Amino acid sequence: MENKPLPPHVFIFPLPYQGPMNSMFNLAELLCLEGLHITFLVTEYIHSRLLTSTDIQSRFNSYPGFQLRSVSDGLPDDHPRSGEKFVEVFDSLELKTKPLLKHMLLTSSGGLRRPVTCIIADGILGFTCDVAKEIGIPIIYFRTLSPCCLWVFFCLPKLIDAGELSLDQSDNMDRLVKNVPGTESFLRRRDLPRFGTFGDLADKTLQLSKKEGQENPRALGLILNTFEELDGPILSHIRTFCPNLYTIGPLHAHLKAKLSPQTTSLESSSSSLWNEDWSCMTWLDSQPSKSVIYVSFGSIATLTKAQLIEFWYGLVNTGFKFLWVIRPDIVAGKDWESQISQDLSEGTKQRGYIVGWVPQKEVLAHPAVGGFLTHSGWNSTLESICGGVPMICWPYFLDQQVNSRFVSEVWKLGLDMKDSCDRVVVENMVKELMEVRREEFSHRAEEMAQVAKRCLSDGGSSFCNLHRLVRDIEDMMIQD
Ligand code: UDP
Repeated sequence: MENKPLPPHVFIFPLPYQGPMNSMFNLAELLCLEGLHITFLVTEYIHSRLLTSTDIQSRFNSYPGFQLRSVSDGLPDDHPRSGEKFVEVFDSLELKTKPLLKHMLLTSSGGLRRPVTCIIADGILGFTCDVAKEIGIPIIYFRTLSPCCLWVFFCLPKLIDAGELSLDQSDNMDRLVKNVPGTESFLRRRDLPRFGTFGDLADKTLQLSKKEGQENPRALGLILNTFEELDGPILSHIRTFCPNLYTIGPLHAHLKAKLSPQTTSLESSSSSLWNEDWSCMTWLDSQPSKSVIYVSFGSIATLTKAQLIEFWYGLVNTGFKFLWVIRPDIVAGKDWESQISQDLSEGTKQRGYIVGWVPQKEVLAHPAVGGFLTHSGWNSTLESICGGVPMICWPYFLDQQVNSRFVSEVWKLGLDMKDSCDRVVVENMVKELMEVRREEFSHRAEEMAQVAKRCLSDGGSSFCNLHRLVRDIEDMMIQD
């Protein structure tokens, strides 16, 4: 009997943060469903968190071709690895993990697995391309942030040369930006990605975003978590830099569309770094359709005590029911809990449900949710789009400033509350989204959710692009 050739072996290396990792795990599972073998490399820190908060192994149990491996990120155990410390994490990965990567790549075969035939790495980790080229393995990048922000990153050299980033707080932040082609009529200075210190051109995250963006064309292609119908005009600009794009998103919905309901339970599809509190789903079950505003600022954003209290009053004062994720580390210190006044506690008891971490995709797909007050992280934005839920955007940093402008001005899927955190503004925005312009936003959001759904079905843009990606990965194997 003729032996069936072994499938391609893809080595995946995500950025060690919740959002990018969620996208990469979804991609990994999609590739497993196509019969590919996967080695998924996470840092030891992420690995131990995954083991305590979720049963990641059981998620991939049904794919014998999948293996999870871990590697040191080179940082001491007590390092916070927070969003603010991103540059330290990046530097350590480059200095300490890069030398280990070659060994991991060369020792991931064995058993029924062929040697690695393709690497998919987060496109901010440019050093992975050096390793790939050194050992002669083809590499594809995955940029897990929004394409609209990626395009701004590609334009950073022009923006810096033209002085459009050398701003201080006294500049007119509502002036339109001239050096991001395709966005001249709506992108304001305040919508530019926010790095560490405002207007500081030497900021390391800014410099890193610029440098890594310029190097993205070194890879054979670029995977993006979006769909052509959402980001078409921006994608045509990005293609002038990186012609070979694989737009295969929204990935979480793409995966859901490919999995039959019997193959997985919802709980087992998680890659959360916090324990998911599913009790909120029961609470949502008892609420009327589109009556709840869901509030979450993702996995990295932090709030000051003052901001927390403003949001709290704003939400309670709307009179709407709210489901709010207050991550254990969202506010530095615990003393804020003692500042919650009697009237806030009372209003929360009547109308609120507060949890530390929720199964967000499921929350956004629940019929009781009528609006999402979000920090505009790219995964959250896509999950909201797929759930047909309009947004109020309160961006924190990086791509979120750009995303929120696209949500409000380009896609007309909600309101942008950036640079303001005041209880009256919060209250008014929630009322505008959930009451005054409810019909308009709901209609628009439902329409976009349908478009997203269509691109994932047979013959749709993301459906076809995933097939092209798989074919290209297979071809890499034939050539070697
Ligand atoms: N998330 C979640 N439960 C929560 C809050 C967030 O599962 O209570 C998930 C959310 O579904 C998304 C990710 O965490 O997939 C956050 O990624 P995003 O890109 O939106 O923002 P980031 O955390 O990277 O700022």
